[in-house]
Amino acid sequence: MSGLLAKYRTWLDLPAYTLDITLHEGGTPLIPMPRLAAELGGGLELYVKYEGLNPTGSFKDRGMTAAISEAAGRGVQTVICASTGNTAASAAAYAARAGMKAIVLIPQGKVAAGKLAGAVAYGAQVVQVDGSFDDALGLVVELSHRQPVALVNSINPYRLEGQKTAAFEILETLGGAPDWLCLPVGNAGNISAYWLGFQQRGARPRLLGVQAAGAAPLVLGQAVEQPETVATAIRIGRPARGEQALAAAEESGGRIVAASDTAILAMQTRLAAEGVWVEPASAAGLAGLADELSAGRLDLQGRRVVAVCTGHGLKDPEVITGRMAAPQVVPVDLGALERLLAD
Ligand SMILES: *Cc1c(COP(=O)(O)O)cnc(C)c1O
Repeated sequence: MSGLLAKYRTWLDLPAYTLDITLHEGGTPLIPMPRLAAELGGGLELYVKYEGLNPTGSFKDRGMTAAISEAAGRGVQTVICASTGNTAASAAAYAARAGMKAIVLIPQGKVAAGKLAGAVAYGAQVVQVDGSFDDALGLVVELSHRQPVALVNSINPYRLEGQKTAAFEILETLGGAPDWLCLPVGNAGNISAYWLGFQQRGARPRLLGVQAAGAAPLVLGQAVEQPETVATAIRIGRPARGEQALAAAEESGGRIVAASDTAILAMQTRLAAEGVWVEPASAAGLAGLADELSAGRLDLQGRRVVAVCTGHGLKDPEVITGRMAAPQVVPVDLGALERLLAD
């Protein structure tokens, strides 16, 4: 067992001084989804790359092992990021592993419970900004120019280097490229990293990037000042790597589309019905794919499709518990239990 840097170091453009700060991230499963594929009806072969199984529950760990290892190698003592939640938890964990301090800025009241808890548990200093993710990102970029802190948002090129490894793993597991890769798009680092990784190995899957309809600047062609969506991980109105993501989608012969919150939540439920529980943003890629198929805009007959499910369902329990009634209560009585189950 080793971490991603040890495994893929020769493929990653990292300075020689980079250390290896790892929690043994990566190596996530590519799960075949034949029932969902049949329901979608396009005759496709479908796999989910389940990134929720990384150490802190999202794909952010792939980029963070690289960014923190680089920062540690040049003696940085404090890292900072803006986050919709998962970057915060990941930065906090890898900083802790490296013996560094982490400062994370999050949009006030907009971060899912499991992510905030993670950042606190790993010992980060958490600051809420009375503004959006985009406002928080603006602040940390400026602060990192003034103070001796390393910025570990995906503007940091080493984040993308680490995140390329997911593309490598897919190619190795499938023994070749999928025809399509669908994934959620927020700040647009991940889709950019996949494209870099695939290209580096001479692979050219078509990319279907999916934004939430209430936070779809790349679909609308302009910034969204007040992005709103249940998929908090992609609640971003000014993607830092927007241009790069649009170029990647176009070069690949794919595109970036938007999916409604209703479609995203329906796909989250559908995935869980097959044993794969993901946070809402993680269902966006497949929600977009389902929309495109049902509108007849995609022909996937006999095609191999990989959907990237970026984060674990445990990250955002309130999306489920907030909508459900409390489970029924029975007395400690077998008859009462049998009557309840018979209803
Ligand atoms: C960060 C994140 C995204 C969006 O990734 P970008 O690189 O910002 O486009 C999607 N889903 C989850 C769960 C995330 O944590």
